Amino acid sequence: MTIAEEAPVAAPPAFPPGRLFIGGSWREASDGGRMDVLAPATGRKLTDVARATTQDVDDAVAAARAAFDSGVWSGLSSRERARILQRAHDLLRERTEELAQAESANAGKPITFARIVDVNNAAELYEYYAALGHHLDGEVREIAAHAHAYVKKEPYGVVAAITPFNFPLILSSSKIAPALIAGNTIVHKPASDTPLSALIVADVLQQAGVPDGVFNVVTGPGSALGDHLVGHPGVDKVAFTGSTEVGARAAALAGKSLTSFTAELGGNAANILFADADLDTAIGTVISAFVFNSGQFCMAGPRLLVERPVYEVVLGILADAVPQVPFGDISDPATVIGPVASRGQLEKVAGIVDRARSAGARVVTGGERVDLDGGFYYAPTVLADLDPAAEAVVEEIFGPVLTVQPFDTEDEAIALANDTRYGLASGIQTSDLARAHRVAARLHAGITWVNGWAILDPAIPFGGVKASGWGREGGPEAMASYQRSHAIVIGLGPEDRR
Ligand code: NAD
Repeated sequence: MTIAEEAPVAAPPAFPPGRLFIGGSWREASDGGRMDVLAPATGRKLTDVARATTQDVDDAVAAARAAFDSGVWSGLSSRERARILQRAHDLLRERTEELAQAESANAGKPITFARIVDVNNAAELYEYYAALGHHLDGEVREIAAHAHAYVKKEPYGVVAAITPFNFPLILSSSKIAPALIAGNTIVHKPASDTPLSALIVADVLQQAGVPDGVFNVVTGPGSALGDHLVGHPGVDKVAFTGSTEVGARAAALAGKSLTSFTAELGGNAANILFADADLDTAIGTVISAFVFNSGQFCMAGPRLLVERPVYEVVLGILADAVPQVPFGDISDPATVIGPVASRGQLEKVAGIVDRARSAGARVVTGGERVDLDGGFYYAPTVLADLDPAAEAVVEEIFGPVLTVQPFDTEDEAIALANDTRYGLASGIQTSDLARAHRVAARLHAGITWVNGWAILDPAIPFGGVKASGWGREGGPEAMASYQRSHAIVIGLGPEDRR
C-alpha cells in the first residue's frame, strides 16, 4: 500500500464541519442534536450544524466567564489585542473565497456581492478596530487640588452577541471586533438559518491567536437559545441585532436582570426624490437601495417618495429599468439580485404584495415569485398608488419590493418620511444643497444619505431611533458601547493642607 492509499488527501470540505466552538474546542451538542442548513438558491439542504442545547449555552458562558476572569484577554495591553485582531483581518482576507462561497450559498447572496461587500466589509471592521486599539486611552479629570482623578475604560465582561440572517458575517464582525478590542469575551449566537460563516470566523480567530474561551459560538434555534443566553446570569452585556419584535422581547428579559443591552432593530427607510435631482443618477440609487441583498437590508430604501412633477416619469423609468437588473443564478458574477434567504421570507414578501394588489395597488413591475431551480426567488417589484397606511408601506417587508408615493411640498415629504415607527436610515436625492441640509436635519433616523445610498464605512456609526433600536455600531461609538467607565479618585491629603 502506498502512502497515498494509506492517507488519502481529502478534498477540502466545502463548508465548516458544523460543530459548536466552546472553550477553544470543537464539539457536538450535548444531546448530539443536528439541524439542517438550507440553500436559498435551491431550497435544498446544504449541510447541517450542531443544534445547541441550553446546557451548551451554559458551557459557552462558563468558558467565556472563565476566560474573562483569568485576564488572559482583558489583561493584555490593547496594543497586543490589536495585533491579534489585525492578524484576524489578514486571515479573513486570505480566506475570502471560502468565506464568500459559504456566505453566498448559505444566505443566497450573489457571489460578487459576497466577495466585495460581505467579506471585504467584515475584514475592514477588524482592521478598523485593531487600529483603534492603539488609542484606547483613559482620561485624567481635573477636579481639585487635593485629589487626583482619572477614568479608566474597562470591558463589561461576557458579551452575548446575537445576529440576524441577512448579513451574517458583517453583523457578527461589527460586534466581535469592537467587543474584543475593548477586552470582552464573547458568546456568539448567529441566526439559525445562516450559521456557517460564524464557524469559519471562530477558526480564524483561534488561528489569529485569540485565547481559548474568549470567543465561543453556539448554533441552534433562536428562541430557546436566545432566551437562555439573554437571561443568563453569567452574561454582562447583550448586543442584539434583529427584528424589533424579538429585540423588544430580549430587552425585556435583559431588563429583569439589569443586564446592559444594545439593540439594532428593524427599519423601513424613506428615500425622498426631489424633482431637481439628477434623475439618471438618482434612479440608479433608488434601485440599488431596494434590490441590494434582495431587499433584506435593515437600511434598505423600500419607501420612495417622489415629488409630483416627476412621479409618473420616475414610475416609467423604473418599469423599464428594474427588470433589466441581472437576476437569478448567484454563482454568476454578473448577478445582482438573488433569492431571499428562506421560504418563510418568500411567503411573507409574496403575501404582502398579493394583499397590496388586492387592495388596489398598481404593480408597476414584478409582483410574482420566480421559479428557478426551486430557490426562494421573488421578482423585484415596484408598487404605486398605495394608501400611506397600507401594509406594504407601513411594514418592514424585507424583500425586493419598492413602494412609491407622490408628494407636493418639502414639509409633506418630511412628514411622510417620518410617519413610521422605525428610524434607522433615510435618503434625499436633490441637487439643491441647502434643501439637503434642511431636510436631513428634520428626518428621524440614525443615518441620512444625500445623493447616494448605503455608503458605509467602519468609521461611520449606524443605528436607530424609535423602534429601530438603541445604541450604535461602527465608529468609536461601537467600541465605547463595549466599555464602561471606572473613575478612580485619589485623595492627596486634607484640603486645608494646601
Ligand atoms: P430575528 O429577530 O428573527 O432574529 C435575530 C436573532 O435573534 C437570531 O439570531 C435569532 O435566532 C435570535 N432570536 C430569536 N428569538 C430570540 C429570543 N427570544 N431571544 C434572543 N434571541 C432570539 O431577526 P431576523 O429575521 O434574523 O433578521 C431580520 C431583522 O433584523 C429585520 O427586522 C432587520 O431590519 C433587522 N436587522 C437590523 C439591523 C440593524 O443594524 N439595525 C441589521 C440587520 C438586520
